[in-house]
Amino acid sequence: MKISVCFKKRPIFHQELAEGEIDVISVVNPKIYVHDCKYKVDGVTKTIENTEFKFDNAFSEFETNEELYFYQVRPILDLIFNQGIVTIFAYGQTGSGKTYTMNGIQGIAVKDLFERGINYWENDQRNFTVTVSMYEIYGGKVYDLHNDHNELKLREDKSNTIQIAGLKEQFVDNDDQILDLIRQGNTMRTTHATKANDTSSRSHAITQIKI
Ligand code: ADP
Ligand code: MG
Repeated sequence: MKISVCFKKRPIFHQELAEGEIDVISVVNPKIYVHDCKYKVDGVTKTIENTEFKFDNAFSEFETNEELYFYQVRPILDLIFNQGIVTIFAYGQTGSGKTYTMNGIQGIAVKDLFERGINYWENDQRNFTVTVSMYEIYGGKVYDLHNDHNELKLREDKSNTIQIAGLKEQFVDNDDQILDLIRQGNTMRTTHATKANDTSSRSHAITQIKI
């Protein structure tokens, strides 16, 4: 599968319930149902309109980041050990749980990558090296999050692959070093208060791990 799309629901907060919000999503993997409270044409009778959406995987509020990693991420990481490229990204409105999910799975992923890399190459005695880089796309420009927030240039090489010229890549020996670099990179990100619907001024961070 070239692209796999999963849905993840976060639990409704006590605060939201206190403010009169209601939980309008039910998850029945791989489908979700959105329950929309409406009035019938008479304008008096209340009714619920249910809309169904289907994904490759749907995770409810009762499933953990570990479970999401195991079923959704781990299977596709095999590609990395076979010269492939794997990209994982989270999409959703502010407060929907992107950071919670990505932070959760990245810790599990880098640990798993090292363990499996060691197992994978152990038998034929090959060494492998791991590099990490991190950049940010902000306002249509690209900045290095590991090198003084330098602006980077996007170039196309002779095989039409986009290259980020001058991106700093650092060698690492273990998963803790990767997580440290990610933490450092996150502190360099452009962040400021944005209105919930203002996507143009958002910062998008990308961590790149090469084996
Ligand atoms: P986003 O990055 O999409 O804006 P966050 O990841 O910051 O959203 O999540 C918003 C809030 O909801 C945070 O306080 C986060 O800790 C909490 N949250 C998100 N997902 C979950 C979850 N599955 N279980 C518990 N709390 C969650
Ligand atoms: Mg976030």
